[in-house]
Amino acid sequence: MTPSEAKRLIRKHIKRWRYLATSYGWKFDVYYADNGHVMPKDMDACYAATNYKSEYLDADIWFNLSLCSELDEKGIEETVIHELTHLVIAPIDFEEEQRKELERVVTMVSRLFMGLRNEKR
Ligand SMILES: [Zn+2]
Repeated sequence: MTPSEAKRLIRKHIKRWRYLATSYGWKFDVYYADNGHVMPKDMDACYAATNYKSEYLDADIWFNLSLCSELDEKGIEETVIHELTHLVIAPIDFEEEQRKELERVVTMVSRLFMGLRNEKR
């Protein structure tokens, strides 16, 4: 798909899934990078990235449109849920060397959310 189609689908799924974070009081802004250069530092190779201040429930979520355009719609939806799940998990503090464990928990919980929705259909 094109980067603009990816952006449209990201918006669609943010709208569908934002309650995961906003129902806990989170506020966030969404940014779209057209190529790696405007992603946050060291996040050029990521499909998306979320920076947050959990004490203020405030976040910025970045999507790399050139990478996201390689995904299908399900992959985009999973990426959106993954980033929002970071906010759900955020109150749990972790050390940088535990990042792999954090990512695994976020991926497990986000797939659970996605599976629960699929069962409702
Ligand atoms: Zn992640």
